[in-house]
Amino acid sequence: MTTAAAKALLNDEQLLRYSRQIFLPEIDVEGQQRLLRSKVMVLGLGGLGSPISMYLASSGVGQLVVVDPDQVELSNLQRQIVHSSDALGMEKVASAKRTLNGLNPDVDIVTHNRRLSEAELIEAARGADVVVDGTDNFDARFTINRACHAAGKPLVSGAVVRMEGQVSVYRFDQPGGPCYNCLYPESNTAPAGQGERSSWQNCSETGVLASVAGIIGCIQATEVVKLLLGIGEVLSGRLLLLDARTMEWNTVGLRKDPQCSVCGTE
Ligand SMILES: [Zn+2]
Repeated sequence: MTTAAAKALLNDEQLLRYSRQIFLPEIDVEGQQRLLRSKVMVLGLGGLGSPISMYLASSGVGQLVVVDPDQVELSNLQRQIVHSSDALGMEKVASAKRTLNGLNPDVDIVTHNRRLSEAELIEAARGADVVVDGTDNFDARFTINRACHAAGKPLVSGAVVRMEGQVSVYRFDQPGGPCYNCLYPESNTAPAGQGERSSWQNCSETGVLASVAGIIGCIQATEVVKLLLGIGEVLSGRLLLLDARTMEWNTVGLRKDPQCSVCGTE
């Protein structure tokens, strides 16, 4: 692209701010402009939502809709790096907005300081290009999965506990793929199912190594940018698992459950 053509799409400050991304042939000026026109909803501004929202803001995603009902507490600061010590007691969405606009004033940050109902989530997901789940409990993840399925929008899902993490992408914008409920059926109350689920409880009960939340959140942010720009292959139909104690990564294939209560066809 000629300099003149590039300047027609982005101003001088943007060309400089995003230059290291624009140098990537997969992104270039057109890709950067596309990011600047994109809308992403980030659910949860905790250990995952912090790196997710910070990298999406610094990368120049045009609008971030951030949702979190909580206030910043001292025990959050170890891993929730979008919040600083002087934000104690603030709404997490207000604290995050301050940090994110400090990183990049170009980004429009829309905040919801409450838990959205399923109907509201569906509506908000319809208005977004991609939804990212950074919440820390199963109830929220099931609701978000159903809402994204209903809205037909891709969901980038992540979870972290202790020194383990997992990431997957559910392409509700394409037919035939699995959903989060295919992986962890909500209705599964059998002992085997509980065993699987109980190992991925809320980190407030089990603890989490801060940097492991950072790793998983960064992978989620990367998958979001790839989805927005159509780069490479995302973790669709695959679950990426990290055990940071041994620093071993595993990928397992995910199959659609035809009897899934959310996306099943039978
Ligand atoms: Zn399903």
